[in-house]
Amino acid sequence: MTPKVAAFLAQSAYETPCLVFDVEQVAENFHSLRAALPAAKIYYAVKANPAAPVLELLAGLGSCFDAASLPEIEACLKAGASAASISFGNTIKKASAIAAAHAHGVPLYAFDSIEELEKIAGNAPGAKVYCRIVVDNIGAQCPLSRKFGTTLDRARDLMLAAAGLGLVPHGLSFHVGSQQTGTAAYELAIARVAMLFTDLKSAGIELKMLNLGGGYPIRYQEDVPETDQFGTAIMHAMTEHFGNDLPDMLIEPGRAMVGNAGVVASEVVLVCRRMPEDERRWVYLDIGRFGGLAETEGEAIRYRITAGAGPTGPVAVAGPTCDSVDIVYEKTPYFLPLELQSGDHVLIHDAGAYITSYASQNFNGFAPLAEHYL
Ligand SMILES: *Cc1c(COP(=O)(O)O)cnc(C)c1O
Repeated sequence: MTPKVAAFLAQSAYETPCLVFDVEQVAENFHSLRAALPAAKIYYAVKANPAAPVLELLAGLGSCFDAASLPEIEACLKAGASAASISFGNTIKKASAIAAAHAHGVPLYAFDSIEELEKIAGNAPGAKVYCRIVVDNIGAQCPLSRKFGTTLDRARDLMLAAAGLGLVPHGLSFHVGSQQTGTAAYELAIARVAMLFTDLKSAGIELKMLNLGGGYPIRYQEDVPETDQFGTAIMHAMTEHFGNDLPDMLIEPGRAMVGNAGVVASEVVLVCRRMPEDERRWVYLDIGRFGGLAETEGEAIRYRITAGAGPTGPVAVAGPTCDSVDIVYEKTPYFLPLELQSGDHVLIHDAGAYITSYASQNFNGFAPLAEHYL
């Protein structure tokens, strides 16, 4: 937790649950991502934390933006980003949203099917398009499903079709899965897409851009490679496969840009043993899967949770709602103080990404968590 967040928690009266977020940390993350991979343009994945102070800071630093919807595009514009700096990166877009983005001047559109390509051609004539390739998500804590991406063969046909539809076949993209804990998935993906660059070149289409997506991890409880290691591995793979004919490179960090900038403060609602003889207590917090901890599904993201000092014992952690899937951690061993009781506060660390944007609207009457940007 940054000193600013610590000072806020120590000195302010706040209601829980809330996110306390140090915007300056985002500037630091932006600079270290840029230093790790200076050849790449940074397109911040807005969904990780779409709050205005975050978008305004990044727009001021000259970041570009990966937006998934018209409201995200409009939030970026409102924050001072230029339309030229925005990529409409969702492969699933409403025709009306494409037309509105095009009218705003957004230049770049993702797709992975002929149907979407035709939709883009009809609503953003002349736009630059890039095709998302499905790649191995080995090493990702949150692998992506089969929902996105297409094969190299299919992408080849689609890029050829793009030109025929009056679009600019601009590049390719992939996403190696989120909280990607190794560099191998990037290296394998780069090797794969490089083949299609070559192949399309001999078919008369010179692609200009490779979008390497997001996935860069942060430290929750286990160590992860430094951002620099990803940068080095990626550049090594790029020069190995593209020589000195490098395409424009884009990265779309979400978690790595905002994750370590925020802490969630939560109140303990109940501590009990489900059976009197159970060693393990159940700790129910005022935030759970529906309050924004959606990434704990399958216990994929294992946040560090702290609650004062003293001897600890094993716990399961759950949220406050009446839905039985609202369990945060039941299989992963968690330990909290034996003294912990209802009314106490706990802190959920490195919670700046994917919490506010996942919080549900008044499920069981619980309002989305408050947000404090410092
Ligand atoms: C969510 C998303 C990202 C960001 O992923 P992180 O793992 O948070 O870095 C980047 N690109 C696309 C297309 C996404 O959907």
